[in-house]
Amino acid sequence: MKLQGTQYWQSTRRVTGLITREEGKQLFRKYRSKRDGIRSCPEMASVCLICESILIDPKEGNEQMLVCRNCGFAFYRYVCPDCGKTVDGRDPLNPACRICGQRICSCGACGCPPNHKEKQP
Ligand SMILES: [Zn+2]
Ligand SMILES: [Zn+2]
Ligand SMILES: [Zn+2]
Repeated sequence: MKLQGTQYWQSTRRVTGLITREEGKQLFRKYRSKRDGIRSCPEMASVCLICESILIDPKEGNEQMLVCRNCGFAFYRYVCPDCGKTVDGRDPLNPACRICGQRICSCGACGCPPNHKEKQP
């Protein structure tokens, strides 16, 4: 199932603001040093890893990004259109694709058209 843009937006919106400041602090401490696993922690959609803020908004003009209202740091966090898992740009297992600039899901999908990557040297 492929989600439309507005559905991405609504799903990130729903997560936003669901945690308390104290929970945000604990998650910040946990993932600040060990970033593996951020993508599979739903609450991390609401925590800024730069300033510890829990004021995270969808980024205007880019439905795949969230932005911290406090420090302005923007990061990728969206549902992979291929496998439905969450992709988070802060997670070391979701590195940036050198071809399209999108984040690569743990299933290997990014913003490149299918089979595009195999054609690269
Ligand atoms: Zn921040
Ligand atoms: Zn995927
Ligand atoms: Zn790509």
